[in-house]
Amino acid sequence: MNLSYWETKTWFSNIDFCIVGSGITGLNCALNLKTRFPKSNILVLERGMLPNGASTKNAGFACFGSISEILDDLNSHSEEEVLQLIQKRLKGLNLLRKNLGDKNIGYKEYGGYELFTKEDRPLFEECKAKLPELNKMLEPLFGEAVFSIQKDSFGFRNIEKKLIFNQFEGQLNTGEMMETLLYKVQKAGIKILNNVNVEEFTEAKNSVKIKTDKLEFLARKLLIATNGFSEKLGIAQVKPARAQVLITKPIKNLKIKGTFHLDKGYYYFRNIDDCILFGGGRNLDFKTEETTEMAQTKLIQQKLEELLKNTILPETSFEIEHRWSGIMGVGKQKKPIVKQISENVYCGVRLGGMGVAIGSLVGKELSELII
Ligand SMILES: Cc1cc2nc3c(=O)[nH]c(=O)nc-3n(C[C@H](O)[C@H](O)[C@H](O)COP(=O)(O)OP(=O)(O)OC[C@H]3O[C@@H](n4cnc5c(N)ncnc54)[C@H](O)[C@@H]3O)c2cc1C
Repeated sequence: MNLSYWETKTWFSNIDFCIVGSGITGLNCALNLKTRFPKSNILVLERGMLPNGASTKNAGFACFGSISEILDDLNSHSEEEVLQLIQKRLKGLNLLRKNLGDKNIGYKEYGGYELFTKEDRPLFEECKAKLPELNKMLEPLFGEAVFSIQKDSFGFRNIEKKLIFNQFEGQLNTGEMMETLLYKVQKAGIKILNNVNVEEFTEAKNSVKIKTDKLEFLARKLLIATNGFSEKLGIAQVKPARAQVLITKPIKNLKIKGTFHLDKGYYYFRNIDDCILFGGGRNLDFKTEETTEMAQTKLIQQKLEELLKNTILPETSFEIEHRWSGIMGVGKQKKPIVKQISENVYCGVRLGGMGVAIGSLVGKELSELII
């Protein structure tokens, strides 16, 4: 790229902090750095025309774990660890809502429901039996019982007639959330450059040399917030996990309202603008879905349509309006990786399926690695 004197001086000189990735983590990191170091020169680099990972692709569940998920976590983590995980999600959601405002992100607390298939009856029985114990465990965080049992009033088919309701689960408008966040970042005087792919970096004297597909330059500190794409920048503990989604055309008199989890959370759906947004099915083919390629597969899309027809909307005719996918970053552990990698390089990655909840907090924690 043949840059002018002006371009080099204005955009690529004296950069204090360069952040890779303009998802929820990278943008929150940038905002927090600007608050802590108001005079700093901050540059965010994003490979996509828009943020192009998970933050603008997700389902917009403001959740902290369904009952079966929490029970599953208790099999592999201590009670204290599970409480810490939930507390982090809660703290992250509160931070997101405080920073951006409920109205600006379309936040609605309609509650969340877990559905159980007939095959999952043993799991349903276990969840029912452990419900009082779990409510007691969560009481210090919520001050009230979180979970209760409710009759299915939505007319679902091929599932248990009773659902487990979580009164504190919410939903938001993902597009509005990211638009508000991007606006806030730009208003704070932080530069964002799109369509720039960071290819590699090397430590230089008191700085980092950053090589992109367009140019090379120096920054004092580099902060990586690339989540599912982090392997390409040498962070091997994060694997990509594609999540596929579809949305119906508007449905007249749609009765479904809230966020819904099915098959231990492998499927999720919600109402938005009189439509049903439905995603999941990664468990049908984990291997193929371990990819950073944004595409859909017949296997998963067909299964989503089949569940929509036979379980979620058995009495309602519907049409599919649109399909898409996004890339999450997962690993052996659920805890995000927020750490220093080398003298001037840091990362905040591996947010799993909970980045709406924890992204604001992970971004803040990443910025706090800079002292
Ligand atoms: C379909 C789907 C549904 C989901 N539903 C929910 C939900 O309902 N609730 C919830 O809490 N979470 C959900 N998640 C997870 C959540 O969206 C993510 O955890 C969160 O968005 C991660 O944010 P991030 O900023 O860390 O990563 P990302 O949003 O992926 O941001 C990383 C950014 O880095 C950019 N990038 C990557 N590599 C480079 C490079 N080399 N150079 C320049 N730029 C680069 C990418 O383009 C991307 O914009 C869902 C995810 C998906 C995919």
